[in-house]
Amino acid sequence: MRIILIFIDGLGLAPAGDTNPLATTALPCLQRLLAGQSLTAEAVGTNNDTATLLALDATLGVPGEPQSATGQTALFTGVNAAQAVGYHVRGFPTPPLRAILQAEGILKKITALGKTATFLNTYTPAYFAQPPEERTDAATTLLSLAAGLPLHTIDDLLAGTTLSADITSTLWREQGLPVPYVPPLEAGRRAAANTRHYDFVFFEYFLTDHYAHKRDQEKLRQSLMEIDTFLAGIIANIDLQHTLLIVTSDHGNLEDNSSSLHTYNPVPLLLVGAGREQLPPLTDLTALTPFILRQLQSKPK
Ligand SMILES: [Zn+2]
Repeated sequence: MRIILIFIDGLGLAPAGDTNPLATTALPCLQRLLAGQSLTAEAVGTNNDTATLLALDATLGVPGEPQSATGQTALFTGVNAAQAVGYHVRGFPTPPLRAILQAEGILKKITALGKTATFLNTYTPAYFAQPPEERTDAATTLLSLAAGLPLHTIDDLLAGTTLSADITSTLWREQGLPVPYVPPLEAGRRAAANTRHYDFVFFEYFLTDHYAHKRDQEKLRQSLMEIDTFLAGIIANIDLQHTLLIVTSDHGNLEDNSSSLHTYNPVPLLLVGAGREQLPPLTDLTALTPFILRQLQSKPK
């Protein structure tokens, strides 16, 4: 069993309606997977030949708005990080969360099983130019470092094996980095190609949360359409009999454009392809890591 995990920041499940861009934007790949429905609360429970949609609680039983640092730590370690530190932590992981990511990180656990993993996101020369002690590392970076995995460079992107954080490299091109535009469909093919070399392929996309905070509806809509095409490119190029595509998030935000704040909504756990028989109970963010570890050890049918 191979797994490709696409993490999308700030994407929750709300009822379809005028304030939910997931319902008002044409997203043909997601809508095809969900038998014509949008990625909304109404579609939870979908379970067809190709896809299963579950909902994960992001509040973790802790009062206050769910936030990225604790949500991602919970997702990517299986530890209820919000309970561990007593509140929801926004932004980048604090020292106690860094310690949890270092000790319990999913990439470290996968490599400890003798499986191979890659974090597809590419790091810029500006990142590497900073002294390590001055870097503000995201949870996903800490996961890679804890596992001893290399952080990918522009050379990897130019070689066609990795992706920029915005999928298409558009933002880097606007900053003057010498990288070609990567069409979303090609980006999906590129991500899928990694499943031939690695047991676990991981990509993080954060602009959804960023645009939702800014309430930039046009950019958000475009971002969702690019994600949808990216997913189509992945699905067209993976072996769905032996590979599981997982799409999930850390907390809600973009699904309610009447506010710029995170929501209390559950997040999707969208499963596409292999390994969807006899699913264990998957109810909150802490369920993701143990589920992935179990699936990677299962024998494909
Ligand atoms: Zn946010």
